[in-house]
Amino acid sequence: MKTIAILTTGGTIAMKQQGDAGVLPALSARELTQALPGDIANWTFEDICNLPSPHLTKHHLQTLRARVVDLVFLQGAAGVVITHGTDTMEETAFYLDMTVKPKVPIVLTGAMRSASEAGYDGLANLTAAVRLAACDEATGLGALIVMNDEIHLARWATKSHTAAVNAFSSPDHDPIGRIVDKQVMFFACPPHRPVLPAGDLAEDVPILPAGLDSSPTLLQHLAANGTRGVVIEGTGAGHVPPAWLEPIRQAIAQGMTVVISSRSRGPLYDKYGYTGAYRDLAAAGCLFSDGIDSTKCRIKLMTILGQAGDAESIRRWWETV
Ligand code: ASP
Repeated sequence: MKTIAILTTGGTIAMKQQGDAGVLPALSARELTQALPGDIANWTFEDICNLPSPHLTKHHLQTLRARVVDLVFLQGAAGVVITHGTDTMEETAFYLDMTVKPKVPIVLTGAMRSASEAGYDGLANLTAAVRLAACDEATGLGALIVMNDEIHLARWATKSHTAAVNAFSSPDHDPIGRIVDKQVMFFACPPHRPVLPAGDLAEDVPILPAGLDSSPTLLQHLAANGTRGVVIEGTGAGHVPPAWLEPIRQAIAQGMTVVISSRSRGPLYDKYGYTGAYRDLAAAGCLFSDGIDSTKCRIKLMTILGQAGDAESIRRWWETV
């Protein structure tokens, strides 16, 4: 049997109701893993931390990545499972996807119901994750999220519902597979992209919404303060109100990296000739989302800025990873 390394970071999967104080962290890695069925794989377990996922910082992500790299490349783990709060699981999954070579499966999972609730989904999700991490076909796909027996690519997965047990989806795509009883079934196996050479994360990259008649004042303020990068969440295929164009040009001239994402699903593309549309933004030197949402654009830009300084390498990595 293969040996899978299970790393726990917290989240509802490791929480219990604590009287009137609400649902709070409770279960250790040992307690989380003790009811796993023994016929799928051998496993090791390790507490990285036990935090709600909105409490995680870039330092936790860097520590987690370093541990994953050590387990996979030095200690020979056949697969890695990470338990994680669902709120920010997509950020951690995408960060690992961009920064760890997919030598073995890396699978993230969590739970929507705490261990005190009827229908706790933590054990089922953890069992599915170990099954997926032990599956040969899951290698080479980058980081994966499995929740509610659905397998999602980290690149596309998002928590799209606040409460449903099937909270995760891959908007504009689909799950790439499913756990069916004891089998792992894949419906699509897209190739994985090149990974970044290191895992350093830059300081925070703000996301600025640029909706109807919105003001670019915050962008001007950030540029004046030397912020290195922003994600501007525009509309449609990559458009901003006309008042944003000049401040964007100025911010780029001052050395800021400006990424344009969209509040709509789908890739950004050139079509319109009106002021503030894609071609104006491209001419100004903006980078564009290829369909990943603003949250993922932010993590991607923080990861790239963590290791690239000049505009040309930032653009090259943005267009490669
Ligand atoms: N608030 C929790 C967290 O992300 C939600 C969860 O784990 O499902 O840590």
